[in-house]
Amino acid sequence: MNLTAKEVDAFLTSRDVTQKMYINGQWVISESEQTRQIINPANGEVIGTVAEGSKADAKKAVAAARQAFYENGWMDSKARDRAELLWQVASKLEARKEEFAAIDTLNNGKTLRESLEDVEDAVNQLRYYAGLATKPHGQTYDVPDDIQAMVVREAVGVVSIIVPWNYPLVMANQKIAAALAAGCTVVVKPAELTPLSVIRLVEIMDETGFPPGVVNLVLGDGKEVGAQLAADPDVDKVSFTGGTSTGIYIMKSAADTVKNISLELGGKSPNIVFADAEFETAVDYALNAIFANQGQVCSAGSRLVIEESLYEKFVPELVRRAKQITVGPGWEEGAEMGPLVSEAHMEKVLRYIEIGKEEGATLLCGGSRMTEGDLARGYFVEPTIFTNTLPDMRIVQEEIFGPVLVIQTFRTEEEAITLANGTNFGLAAAVFTQDGAKAQRVIRRIRAGITWINTYHPTFNEAPWGGYKQSGIGRDLGTYGFEEYLETKQINTNLNIEPSGFFKGK
Ligand code: NAD
Repeated sequence: MNLTAKEVDAFLTSRDVTQKMYINGQWVISESEQTRQIINPANGEVIGTVAEGSKADAKKAVAAARQAFYENGWMDSKARDRAELLWQVASKLEARKEEFAAIDTLNNGKTLRESLEDVEDAVNQLRYYAGLATKPHGQTYDVPDDIQAMVVREAVGVVSIIVPWNYPLVMANQKIAAALAAGCTVVVKPAELTPLSVIRLVEIMDETGFPPGVVNLVLGDGKEVGAQLAADPDVDKVSFTGGTSTGIYIMKSAADTVKNISLELGGKSPNIVFADAEFETAVDYALNAIFANQGQVCSAGSRLVIEESLYEKFVPELVRRAKQITVGPGWEEGAEMGPLVSEAHMEKVLRYIEIGKEEGATLLCGGSRMTEGDLARGYFVEPTIFTNTLPDMRIVQEEIFGPVLVIQTFRTEEEAITLANGTNFGLAAAVFTQDGAKAQRVIRRIRAGITWINTYHPTFNEAPWGGYKQSGIGRDLGTYGFEEYLETKQINTNLNIEPSGFFKGK
């Protein structure tokens, strides 16, 4: 897939709609009448103008979602009807998958190959949750008394969905699909930098015929709109994906009204390579682990934890291959790595690279913004690798969220595990070795929610996604991701309707 300028423009024509938000079944402008320009990070050009919502808009959207759930019948909607709607959305999205991929590439910078995979994932998520909606949920219990004891699962209610910019469509879609399948109503806030694909997803939902207020879209700044969605007393649950510091803030805001929360937060994930690993495979995945999506992946393998005896063979080959990565606008044929999402984010990543140098780590490759030719217009950063690191360095402990790999070495299995677990995060981890027992031994001792053996990054909508420690609370995806949107109620029915005689009196 290679886009011409005309095609790019064609994808972004319905500007009148993109200046609006979707509240209570209507496309509306922001109460503040403010708008925000959306930038293509590969060349700095404006590719859209969208509404910039306010707290008042967020409140209106929550009120609409509340009315739809509690008063207008969505609470009693039938799973089969919800499944049918989600299935229709999936089919419409699938029919427009190239358009959606192009939008995410233009808005986020990722390569078309990756954007297309994201859209395919989104279609599959909608179908997965459409299917799950109608499956049995709940249990019965064999209890001592003459009681029919059972548990039913009920929708949590009104859900605020707040998501980041690194997977603009997929992050929002996976939560929307699960929440709607479970019978909740939703207010979605995409990241302020990357709202375009979610706006179009909500257009599809509008066409598909969800009742007013079931799906609502508000756009805008996290501290304004996001903060309202996290704190609003009429919200029953906040489902958040983003940085750990934002997650902490959201957890505190939600605490005032004891809201149900799910948090998918940051990571600094170790990719452990033992000397007996299959060499080519381990090198290949070490690159994939950190440089896919420009390293803007929560589960990126941003720490290569490598056995000392393999270092001399492995690291030069890794550096050689990193230097060969083709960097360019995501829509160009052959582009393997695109730009970072924004100028501000690029500056943050470059600052971390400076911090690494100041801390005394050795830069093996990369380290700079790329400025040759047209690349200078975008926010491109070279694939960067640091070695000679110490465990307490900031570049080892903190999430950089860019194409920056740090190398740590170990001599024993025990040391590998200690290094791997040596941050506050616990999102993902991988182990490369041809010794099956060692792989299992090590992975079982890693405190992380998503792990791989002899691979890195494959993720499946069927399996739960989420972290240990400061990487989050709860899970997205799979049946676990569905449960996040369900309450649990026990119902005990007396099968022998007679007085209990508990109080006999005098
Ligand atoms: P971010 O935390 O800055 O923003 C995420 C969302 O929260 C955005 O929509 C933003 O507008 C909103 N927000 C910001 N401040 C807010 C506030 N005070 N109250 C309410 N909402 C607020 O994160 P980001 O920079 O957009 O994304 C990168 C981060 O997301 C990384 O840390 C990455 O690891 C994490 N992430 C985690 C996962 C996961 O599954 N664990 C997946 C993707 C990204």
